Amino acid sequence: MKTQFKFLLSFLIIILHLRIYAQVNEEQKINDLLSKMTLKEKIGQLVQFSFVNSEREELIREGSVGSFLNITNPKEVNRIQKIAVEESRLGIPLIIGQDVIHGYNTTFPIPLGETASWNPELVKKAAEIASWEAASNGVHWTFAPMVDIARDPRWGRIAEGSGEDPYLGSVMADARVRGFQGNNLKEKRNIVACAKHYVAYGEAIGGKDYNTVDMSERMLREVYLPPFKSAVDAGAGTLMSAFNDLNGIPASANYFTLTQILRNEWGFDGFVVSDWNSIGELVNHRFAKDKMEAALKGLTAGVDMDMAGDEQTGNVYLPNLESLVKNGLIKEELINESVKRILRIKYRIGLFDHPYIDSVYFKQNFISKEEREKVALQLSKESIVLLKNEDELLPLKKDIKSIALIGPLADNQEDPTGPWSTAPIFENVVTVLQGLKNKLQSGTRINYLKGCNINDDDRSEFDKAVKTAGESDAIIIVVGESRDMSGEASSRSDIGLPGVQLELIKRIYETGKPIVVVLMSGRPLTIPWLSENIPSILETWFLGDQTGNAIADVLFGDYNPSGKLPVTFPRSVGQIPIFYNYKSTGRPPDEKNKFTSKYLDIPITPQYPFGFGLSYTTFDYKNLKLDKTSLWKSDSVLVKIDVSNVGDVAGSEVVQLYIKDWFSSVTRPLKELKAFNKIHLEPGETKTVEFKITPNMLSFYDEKMNWIVEPGKFDVMIGGNSEDLISATFEVTK
Ligand code: BGC
Repeated sequence: MKTQFKFLLSFLIIILHLRIYAQVNEEQKINDLLSKMTLKEKIGQLVQFSFVNSEREELIREGSVGSFLNITNPKEVNRIQKIAVEESRLGIPLIIGQDVIHGYNTTFPIPLGETASWNPELVKKAAEIASWEAASNGVHWTFAPMVDIARDPRWGRIAEGSGEDPYLGSVMADARVRGFQGNNLKEKRNIVACAKHYVAYGEAIGGKDYNTVDMSERMLREVYLPPFKSAVDAGAGTLMSAFNDLNGIPASANYFTLTQILRNEWGFDGFVVSDWNSIGELVNHRFAKDKMEAALKGLTAGVDMDMAGDEQTGNVYLPNLESLVKNGLIKEELINESVKRILRIKYRIGLFDHPYIDSVYFKQNFISKEEREKVALQLSKESIVLLKNEDELLPLKKDIKSIALIGPLADNQEDPTGPWSTAPIFENVVTVLQGLKNKLQSGTRINYLKGCNINDDDRSEFDKAVKTAGESDAIIIVVGESRDMSGEASSRSDIGLPGVQLELIKRIYETGKPIVVVLMSGRPLTIPWLSENIPSILETWFLGDQTGNAIADVLFGDYNPSGKLPVTFPRSVGQIPIFYNYKSTGRPPDEKNKFTSKYLDIPITPQYPFGFGLSYTTFDYKNLKLDKTSLWKSDSVLVKIDVSNVGDVAGSEVVQLYIKDWFSSVTRPLKELKAFNKIHLEPGETKTVEFKITPNMLSFYDEKMNWIVEPGKFDVMIGGNSEDLISATFEVTK
């Protein structure tokens, strides 16, 4: 035993030495290179453009540009790289960035949908595949994951992130960074991640994109920073500074967040890229009087690279930094620091050793089409959330005689790819119609009709749709948003079903036939009428390539839905912002008492709570046990609970653990998600699920922003969503 231990220890020491040696070696190389660079070449490393023209080719030759984005043609990537490596004085390779958000060619569910799977391992796998496909096309760096917490579904970019919860958001940030970057960034199939948009972009007032953000440091640290910290801890090489104003100092010129927190507190040694022209926009914020001052403020706050590329906006760093240094407003040392951070990442991803796309490598290190489709299908199935299933209408029987399939998203190959699909192959998207055909034998007649468009007032097919529905045994209506109604610059003030889709559903409802509504959307929609009247509703987000196969599997019971909402569904826009981890207030909401915190005209509850999702089976939670009910501040509590499948079919359940601090020196949310575990249970099976509640899970920022555990009573609450929980109490003593 002793010898084994000694052997292990020596092995670990050797690994540690090798790591330190590699790091020293890397820093040495960076410093050597830096010492050879002219000021102009240094500034060049801080410049990123979006497209190439002859003028920019010349800039590459001069060493005046270090990065490009949106160059998707591999031949073009190699061509411009050749100019950088072979024709510029120092041969520093370009780093090519791209928004690889939920797949490259293979399109996976939008990030909000992927998060509904509560399956970080699978989400990581999807990022691995996206990374491989992107890298083989010459991408070194993705502008993902988007880790902005979003509590306002009017904000279109909610689709790109992981929803409202800092813990779930942190778990997904970690999974995606590790998926993109792998264990070794030098491996050619891995690309460097960029956690964005730093920070608090999701809190834009009124959910209006690019809008001002004003929040306390407490809220920033408790809710909006944790997923970024998680991405940094997972090794994310880069971060992107956001567009928004943050407490009067725009996020792209915010020294407090970019330097004090990110570098000084967290020790981040990668680089920060601006968002598209977000430094130039400091002038629009009226925070800088001109682009020169914008460049000064952006760089001194901690933004290393200026992303600005088209002819209209132009770049801010390129034309201004040199005079700022010459006029003594910026010390060259500050430029050196930014250059070092960028070169560090270029070294770390092995760009100096292999600047070109290695097609031989990608042929040998192949991810088969079958494997890609398999992951996409599994993730799509797990992302679907069953919102309602009255009288067990679902799953439908496969021997059903006829089905009416109606709706503008039922046979649509473009919209299911969702916003920010990078290089989707629309022909690969399996529509719901195709999915049903793949699933059902010829004995079932599928009567398909579009019925209406997504977002206009054309009712010309209504009568035909009603007739088709009346002639069928069951009706599946596929409705929702188009792909451009969420994502960037796609905030909506009304988040109901757009156009005349709801009207169409109401007409069909009059037939009295059983109806299943399949929703596709980039955000929670307000669906009070559907929730009241339609027996079965599925939220499927935008699932990408495997849309139809995944939905058909769920509709016909070949997959038992297990998705859980990563975000609260409001009853109406008036309830927004609405989220599960709110505070008690001095007048906690009480339906029966007028003088409490609520609206007069709407229930206090949401339409569907955070963490909610039904299954074709029933899970029973009992025997919640703690290994102790009194503990020291530094102790952990072991929690066990029995979860049983008491229904007739196998299924997966996301067992969620929430914590409530009874009383504290700073007010705390009524509950906070702190852990979860997705388990699979056969009918009749029981599993004991264990969690360890650590001091970190009980901690919060005190009045002075110290992260502490405070003595007192806590509840641990466990269940299948944020509302239906069973609880036990324990006490932390001094
Ligand atoms: C978006 C970023 C994106 C960048 C580059 C910006 O408009 O806000 O999320 O990464 O464009 O495409």
